[in-house]
Amino acid sequence: MNVISGDELASVVTESVRQDMGRYFRQARNQYVGPWHIEELEQHRTSPGFEQEELVDCLQQLLADHDSPACHELMTRMCGQNVPFMIVAHELSHLRDLLIRLAAGDSNMNAVGAIMTFFDVLEDTLAKIYLAGFLGTLGHRNNVRLRHISALAEKNLLIHFEKHLDWLKQLTVAVSGRDRSAMPEAHHERCEFGKWLHGEGAKLMRDRSHYMHLVETHAAMHHVVDEIAGMVGLASDSLPLYALMKKAENYSLDLGNEISMLNSMVIMISYNKDPMTGALTRRSLERVMINQLEISRATETPFCLLMCDVDHFKQINDRHGHTVGDGAIVHFANALRNSLRQSDLMFRFGGDEFLLMLPSTGYQQGWEVAEKLRSAVAEHSLATGAGQLTLQASFGLLEVSGNKTSFIDSELVNNLIAECDQRLYLAKHRGRNQIA
Ligand code: GH3
Ligand code: MG
Repeated sequence: MNVISGDELASVVTESVRQDMGRYFRQARNQYVGPWHIEELEQHRTSPGFEQEELVDCLQQLLADHDSPACHELMTRMCGQNVPFMIVAHELSHLRDLLIRLAAGDSNMNAVGAIMTFFDVLEDTLAKIYLAGFLGTLGHRNNVRLRHISALAEKNLLIHFEKHLDWLKQLTVAVSGRDRSAMPEAHHERCEFGKWLHGEGAKLMRDRSHYMHLVETHAAMHHVVDEIAGMVGLASDSLPLYALMKKAENYSLDLGNEISMLNSMVIMISYNKDPMTGALTRRSLERVMINQLEISRATETPFCLLMCDVDHFKQINDRHGHTVGDGAIVHFANALRNSLRQSDLMFRFGGDEFLLMLPSTGYQQGWEVAEKLRSAVAEHSLATGAGQLTLQASFGLLEVSGNKTSFIDSELVNNLIAECDQRLYLAKHRGRNQIA
């Protein structure tokens, strides 16, 4: 399908101005600085996705024969190579301004008008291509997310996110087909997810600020979808739809992250605990970790594993006896818990060793959490019969991305734990009371 209509272009660029525009294009070709002259987009210099001459030549060709597939192909290629829309649009407007200056210098107002309209048609075409590309990949991403959620052994609260993804799928189909009658439920309290959020969900979430954040994010997303519904099918709807659909997807990922954190809270409340420390037992570790990996894939957000172990714990047992040793383990577990979010999962891995799972957390943030835990442990001493006892601990940090892994199975879980344990070993080896 060639979305640049020859008729449309022919009506814009009449024969009388076509010659003039051709001349300006030839002049512009020498003056045009080319792509990637904007500083903040410096990183794209390495793989620009198109050459300046190629862009000018394609447009010139389009001007000459009114229906050039080369121009369409170039735009499709840029979209496929993920050259940001903003960059291409910026280049087009840069080139347009250059042509307008040349035409205005000749006081050729007919050409100025034709250049402006010519570039409007081009921008609309570009937006159509980018929107179609975006909707295609969104449909694909959505299916992948749905597949991972339906693979969960225990969906818990994620079942509501699954309904939300079904809703988003319907939205994508409606926008792709420009079919207003196929739009999903518009009201944020009446869609399946909204019904749960404003009913059962409201009772379940005791933390009001967390709950309100979720309600506001969901309402904001529906507000965007109202705008989408108003746009679908209007002339030149591609550019606004492209921006709005991107916004809707971002809100949707936010919702996924919020729900996955709530889900972890439910797990922390309802799963079996180690009676001494109140941490989850190692028995549920594999099941919870497999779920977390699937969630990480579905929400395209990494999580962190943090292995924590008290330094020289044997000496405490040896010097003060096992009862004090037990008290120290409880004290350590409390120090960890008090510095964590409610949605962080804490497992007792062995004697004085705990494994933490931090949902929706990247490496940098994970490191900050680990540093907070390390200093919390070192700063809060424990009162014993023999005086104050100060603990220190070492930490091994590992960022895990569900999308970067192939099979999600027990072997993967064991490998990840082993890798995290090696990090802890490194922290011990480097002198303890630190993170690696
Ligand atoms: P490192 O700095 O290398 O971690 O030295 P460490 O002495 O802490 O060594 P390690 O972590 O291997 O020691 C764990 C010890 O904790 C071994 C075991 O006797 C003791 N332990 C395991 N479970 C319990 C428990 O429930 N209570 C008490 N009091 N001690 C425990
Ligand atoms: Mg230890």
